[in-house]
Amino acid sequence: MSRAALLLVGFVVGVQAAPPQPRDAAITIFAGARLISGDGGAPLEDSAFVVENDRITRVGRKSDVPAPPGATRVDLTGKTVIPALVDAHSHIGYMKDLGSGPEHYTRENIVDHLHRFAYFGVAASQAMGSDFGELPFQVRDEVHADAARFLTAGRGLAPLDEIRPDNMRHAASAVTTEPGARAAVEELARRNVRIIKTWVDDRGGTIRKLTPNLYRAIIDEAHRRNMRVAVHATDLEDAKDLLRSGVDILAHMVSDVDDELVALFKQHPDTAVLTALGGPRRLTYAPWLNPPHPLVIESVSPAQIRRLQDRLAKSTVEEIERGRQAWARLARGVARLHAAGVRIGAGTDGGGQTGDQFIGWTMHTELENMVAAGMTPAAAVVAATRTAAEILGLDSLGMVAPGKSADFVVLDANPLDDITNTRRIADVYLRGRKVDRLKLRADFAKVGRGNR
Ligand SMILES: [Zn+2]
Repeated sequence: MSRAALLLVGFVVGVQAAPPQPRDAAITIFAGARLISGDGGAPLEDSAFVVENDRITRVGRKSDVPAPPGATRVDLTGKTVIPALVDAHSHIGYMKDLGSGPEHYTRENIVDHLHRFAYFGVAASQAMGSDFGELPFQVRDEVHADAARFLTAGRGLAPLDEIRPDNMRHAASAVTTEPGARAAVEELARRNVRIIKTWVDDRGGTIRKLTPNLYRAIIDEAHRRNMRVAVHATDLEDAKDLLRSGVDILAHMVSDVDDELVALFKQHPDTAVLTALGGPRRLTYAPWLNPPHPLVIESVSPAQIRRLQDRLAKSTVEEIERGRQAWARLARGVARLHAAGVRIGAGTDGGGQTGDQFIGWTMHTELENMVAAGMTPAAAVVAATRTAAEILGLDSLGMVAPGKSADFVVLDANPLDDITNTRRIADVYLRGRKVDRLKLRADFAKVGRGNR
C-alpha cells in the first residue's frame, strides 16, 4: 500500500494524532491485555494500544482501536500491562558480584547495571551522587539496547566528614563555604545535571553534618539555575528545615513523621519523598531470599545470594527487634504522608554500599514494601511509574498513553490482586523494542561463575 493510501485509511478509521510516518515505520498493535496505564484509575480490561516506532500513539478498548494497516499484531489476552518502572534513587556502577566500591566503576559495569534494570522492567534510574569523572555524562547521553536510561547527579555535594576514600561519597565535592557550594552547583549545571544530590546526616552523632547555611546556598543556587536538589536526610528535624528551605526531593523516607512535617509537605506540594524502604526492611522481612526467588537466582551469583543469607541469619535478636521497630516507624510515616496526598515516588537505593541491594530486583521489593506500609497496590504502581518519572523530569515515561515512549512491562498476573505479581514478568519493552531477556540472563550467569 502506498503511503498516501495508508494515511487515507488511517484518516478514514479515525486514527488520531498520527504524524507522517517514514515508509518503513514499524507499527504494532498490542491487544487484549488488562492495562494499568499509570494514571491511578481503574485498569482498562481488554485494551489495545498502538506503538509506532518508539512511541505509543493510541490507547483504548480493543473494540475501539482498530489495527492500523500493515500493523504487526501482538496478542496479550490474559496478560496485564503496566508502564515500565522508574527507580528514582540508586547507586550505579559500584556493585559487582561480591565487591562494591569505586574500583568497579567502569563503563562496562555501569552498562551491566542498566541491563539489569531493563531485565526487571525498569526504564530509567537516577544515580544519586555517587558518580564521578566524565564517564557518567557520556553514558547518560548514549542509547544502549536492552538497557535502562541512566540519569546522573554527577558528584554529590557533601560535608568534609562524609567523604572517605572507600565510600560512595569518596568523589563528592566537599562543601565548606557558601561560595564553594554555589561553585559546585555551577559546575554540575555545566554538565547538564538536572538533580543535585547532597547529604544532611550526622550518622548517629559520629560526623559533622552539612550546616543549614550551606544547604540553603546549594538549594538557592540550584533553583536559580532551574535545577533541583535531592537530599539524604532521615532525621525529622533536618527534614523539616530542608522543607522550609525549599528542598525538592527527600531521597529517603523520614522516621517518626509528625503533624508538623505533614503540614510542611502541604505547604510545599511540589516536594517529593522517595521511599528507599528495602534496606530498612530486609533485616526482618526477606522471604524472597529463602528460598531465593527465581528472578534473584537468574540475576545474582550464588555466592552473593549465600552471603546475604548468611548476613541475615547472623542477626541477633536485639538487631531484629530494632529493625522491626525502625521499619514500623518508617511504615507509619509512609502511610501518613500517603494519606495526606504527599508526592511519594519509588526510589530503591539499589546498588548502595551497604551491599546486596540487588540492582533491578530491589524495585520489586520496594513495591511490596510500599504496600506493606499501607499504600494500595494501585498507588504503589503509580509511585513507581508516573510519579517517579515526574520527579525525575522524564516526560516521556511513567504512563502507557498516547505520546509517551513505548516503555512497558507485560505481566502474567495482575499486580492489583497481589503486588508481588510485578515479578511475574513475561516481557519488557523499552523504546518500543522487546528487551532480549534470554540473552541478558545468559550474560548475568557468566558473572561470578567462579563462585558457585
Ligand atoms: Zn542512596
